Amino acid sequence: MRRSELVRALARVPEFPHPSAALEQLATSPEAAAELLGTADRTDGLAGRSVLDLGTGTGRLAIGAALLGAGPVRAVEVDPEAAALARAWAERLGASVEVVTADVQDESRRADVVVMNPPFGAQRRHADRPFWDAAFRLAQRSVYAFALEESRTFIARRAVARGAHITETRPVPWRLGRTLPHHTRDRVPIAVDLWAISTDDVR
Ligand code: SAH
Repeated sequence: MRRSELVRALARVPEFPHPSAALEQLATSPEAAAELLGTADRTDGLAGRSVLDLGTGTGRLAIGAALLGAGPVRAVEVDPEAAALARAWAERLGASVEVVTADVQDESRRADVVVMNPPFGAQRRHADRPFWDAAFRLAQRSVYAFALEESRTFIARRAVARGAHITETRPVPWRLGRTLPHHTRDRVPIAVDLWAISTDDVR
């Protein structure tokens, strides 16, 4: 599937109807999702790879991975309303995704590739940590994820501690829409990185 086609499909997947600030529910833009998935596809070849999406929200990353040929694709989301939307949209777009309503801390199924746009820890300090721990625990080959630039040291340290290899840390254009009630300005730019991490040699 071409990138433009992927962006168009992911734009149909809705954002959160009732975004929870505590859960940092901000949907990845279709362009950013395509950027992450394109990087994963070029590096690992997603076709036929098992993929796990941690905190899938309404499902954009998981659905996109499935549309690029990944499988099986499993998606974990703690909020039942978002999980239901992810399920419905996967079906509508013909993407085979198993959506599980659960906390990422309780996930035990490993996969070749872990993708995630987790909470950035901006609302609740360290809310991103269980996600990175789960990612390093469960990724058999690679992790692709977004994080705030200020989390660089934490993520790099955690990767080194797990014996993982950072392939790339690339700043990506990111604008925060007025999606949470306390956001007052339109479309504030924030510093976000796309991470590509190889966990291949982690034992
Ligand atoms: N990955 C989605 C959503 C990003 S917002 C996207 O790219 O569009 C972060 C998501 O993580 C939200 O859907 C939130 O409900 C979910 N989340 C937060 N804490 C969680 C936890 N402990 N376990 C599972 N999901 C969680």
